Amino acid sequence: MSSSVIGVESGRAADKTTVPGPILLLGAPGVGKGTQAKELVKLWGIPQISTGDLLRANVTQGTQLGRVAKEIMGRGELVPDSLVDEMVAVRLQAPDTVNGYILDGFPRTLGQAGWLDGRLAAQAQGLPVIAVSIQVDYNQLLRRITGRRNCPVCQTIYNVYMNPPTRDGFCNVEGAALVQRADDTEEVFKERMRAYVALTAPVVEHYRAQGRFAEVDGDRSIVAIAAGIVAAVERLRQ
Ligand code: AMP
Repeated sequence: MSSSVIGVESGRAADKTTVPGPILLLGAPGVGKGTQAKELVKLWGIPQISTGDLLRANVTQGTQLGRVAKEIMGRGELVPDSLVDEMVAVRLQAPDTVNGYILDGFPRTLGQAGWLDGRLAAQAQGLPVIAVSIQVDYNQLLRRITGRRNCPVCQTIYNVYMNPPTRDGFCNVEGAALVQRADDTEEVFKERMRAYVALTAPVVEHYRAQGRFAEVDGDRSIVAIAAGIVAAVERLRQ
């Protein structure tokens, strides 16, 4: 392995010379966008910008945005574009985004995609976005979502069906009681899937039509999916 690469456990390697630029991770709820974003952060050293995480932080802090978002999120619906766009605009001003960033869960509507496209087009410099859509079938997603639990201390994610902790209900690392996201119930999952099909699936088609787009199979190991994303980004950036 040459010194210009950083290893990925599967043997696939990310080329350090690739400047990743803006990457959009698209896909239905539960496909693993957050997990993959964290893998890519480790490889490329660019930040993960998760609109779901930012909104949850606003809810926890009780901001005005958080108060509006809380009920909408609890129903599995989408927070209005103007509020999410503004939140993303503020985050994108941070200096850690200069070499790129991974947008996880944004854009989720054609309106948000249009806003982002316009914002990037207005920048004199900077690479165009690459969109990566992660594919997983519906029944698998249902198990992933309803089985998902996370450690409130170290944020490790478990799944009671597929990746249970050693001691039922408690984090292997911290020993803390695991928690379930309020919107990870079957009822809310179905609403989130309806919102995905109606509003976000067209976003995938929007970026597919623009070319710099890749689809990866999300029903594989975390490392294999990450390697697939890295390969796609390197190919599309050439
Ligand atoms: P996530 O953590 O990405 O699954 O997002 C959780 C919830 O936050 C979603 O079900 C929406 O209610 C809200 N949300 C996250 N990102 C967006 C977005 N880009 N546009 C609108 N609502 C969002």
